Amino acid sequence: MRILLAEDDAMIGEALEYALNNSDHVVDWVRDGESALLNARTEPFDVILLDLGLPKLDGMEVLRQLRRSGNTTPVLIVTARDAVDMRIKGLDLGADDYIIKPFEMPEMLARIRAVFRRKSGHADSVLENGMLSLNLVTRVVTVNGSDFRLSAREYALLEALLIRPGAILSRQDLESRVYQWDQEVESNAIEFLIHGLRKKIGTQSIKNVRGLGWMVSKQD
Ligand code: CA
Repeated sequence: MRILLAEDDAMIGEALEYALNNSDHVVDWVRDGESALLNARTEPFDVILLDLGLPKLDGMEVLRQLRRSGNTTPVLIVTARDAVDMRIKGLDLGADDYIIKPFEMPEMLARIRAVFRRKSGHADSVLENGMLSLNLVTRVVTVNGSDFRLSAREYALLEALLIRPGAILSRQDLESRVYQWDQEVESNAIEFLIHGLRKKIGTQSIKNVRGLGWMVSKQD
């Protein structure tokens, strides 16, 4: 998934960026509240990790303004152990969950998956569609009982399509979920990824809708 990381502490930010990249997530890291708000409003993110103590605009204010403007992207706030009032205030303002510093990385990753799943209406960590299933924890895709390992970008692309079966995602939609904003993207990069995915999981798995984009058909 594509994650907006708003964190001004360089050490925590680097550790999080590393762990999230390692788990095949696309991460955009911003270091102040104004940039967090701007990015959250202009780019599609699956989850926002929001430190509350941020320069320029504090995290609580970022959250308040986001929710006031109707943005419903899942927000996980990151707070200090003794800040009970802040956690309550954050949840009341529309945060989806919180995590206490210092945190263990596996717990952080699990909470990210949990808020993502809840927001997209999935109760567990396996996205199933017909003969195809994708495990959000192991990131293994299963087709007709056979397991396949995907590259980080193939995974991000398939996840984006499979979390909303039946929806058509444009080239721009897919690029924004597979690449960070500062990455150069070749004009045929998405076609190339889809070609590779179809070779692994079946030519009918991803449908092209001429002129509009791509989709995974909804199946029981
Ligand atoms: Ca901070």
